[in-house]
Amino acid sequence: MTSSPAALRSRDNDHVWHPFTPMSAYRDEGAPIIERGEGFHLIDVEGRRYLDGISSLWCNVHGHRVPEIDAAVRDQLDRVAHTTLLGLSSPPSIDLAARLVQTAPEGLNRVFYSDSGSTAVEAALKIVYQYHQQKRSNPQHRDLFATVGGAYHGDTIGSVSVGSIDLFHRTYGKLLFSTVSVPSPTALRYPEGFTSETFVRHCFDEVERVVAENHQRLAAFVIEPLVQGASGILVHPPGYLKHVREVTARYDVPLIADEVAVGFGRTGTMFACEQEDVRPDIMCLAKGITGGYLPLAATLVTDAIYEAFLAEPAEGKTFFHGHTYTGNPLACAAALASLDLFEQNDVLANVRRNEQILAECLAPLQDHPHVAEVRQKGLMVGIELVADRETLEPFPAERRTGHRVTLAARRRETIVRPLGDVAVLMPAPAMPGDLVRRLCVTISEAINDAVRY
Ligand SMILES: *Cc1c(COP(=O)(O)O)cnc(C)c1O
Repeated sequence: MTSSPAALRSRDNDHVWHPFTPMSAYRDEGAPIIERGEGFHLIDVEGRRYLDGISSLWCNVHGHRVPEIDAAVRDQLDRVAHTTLLGLSSPPSIDLAARLVQTAPEGLNRVFYSDSGSTAVEAALKIVYQYHQQKRSNPQHRDLFATVGGAYHGDTIGSVSVGSIDLFHRTYGKLLFSTVSVPSPTALRYPEGFTSETFVRHCFDEVERVVAENHQRLAAFVIEPLVQGASGILVHPPGYLKHVREVTARYDVPLIADEVAVGFGRTGTMFACEQEDVRPDIMCLAKGITGGYLPLAATLVTDAIYEAFLAEPAEGKTFFHGHTYTGNPLACAAALASLDLFEQNDVLANVRRNEQILAECLAPLQDHPHVAEVRQKGLMVGIELVADRETLEPFPAERRTGHRVTLAARRRETIVRPLGDVAVLMPAPAMPGDLVRRLCVTISEAINDAVRY
């Protein structure tokens, strides 16, 4: 087959169905076809060089083509590309499990591997559901999950059930199991009769009320710690995560921390839970786990949960769940090399520097006539664009204002991807400060382009 850019584009349009992408519009846009990466840049088949402003969808950590990670994957490739974890083991999966346990909040001693954030959450839900039936003292049938409004936990049916982004989820309503939810404690928009302060207070109280009312049925409380990513980079007020942990612990409800987006340095610490000194019962990891190299995920659980699955094989208490490529050795080797680089390069210190740079460079946008709010935690930034910043009236959906930002940034050799009309910046944790500055300048110019009629 020929691989001229035009031929590739035409085959792309003929055969590839892109995820989360309205294909009718995509076909006409001539999106970059990325051929190579180099550090924090992506280079397309026409030789154009783009700054990767969203860490290749929130997962890249140290840049692309990192010599140490490349070498680790090659070295594993010289041994074996894939062997199963179903009843067998492999050195990289063993070493990585031990490293993750060492790095994670205390008490999470057991690692169950899968391949994506969705499957990490899916496994967590099934594990905790089965755990209650099999726990030694007082086995129970708990069938209800508590969630936070606007949550996103992935796209498989279980992980969609615990999410609530209307646009993504309403179509599948009848396929989903039911949940109870508490309102997201974010105060840009609040119901009548509240102020932003009283609404946040109300959200804290709702955690107590919903858990108290349902605790005997609650299999777990599922949360994105500190930041709700996919619903528009919603940053929780300080103390909220700790409050949720305190209430769930008091009512004996397990806490599932979905650190798929916030884990691996994104918010300034290795894991977001550390910032409020929270120890979840289950923690889900994916996106940044391999430095953004290969599909891998992990669901970490406490000994107490793990031990409920220990019994004579014939008793049937095994966790009957697992995917073919679970714990793939190439992916685990990449993950180990990535964890080494976190230490060698003090990536977390770089995150804290870049956090400051983002805050300073984006400050002028706070007063922009079409910006409702600039939200930031660590290296996660959401800039909400509205038609009117006083009334918070949104732009008409058909205008695709957020998407216009993407197209305007692309003309400036930068890759970004919005969440609706929220422009998103998600620079890689190891990105040098001067590139972060450039990213801020580009996004500001792209926003000006995009809001102009
Ligand atoms: C991206 C994301 C997921 C889903 O991960 P995939 O690898 O895309 O399946 C789950 N939870 C959160 C918080 C995420 O941001």
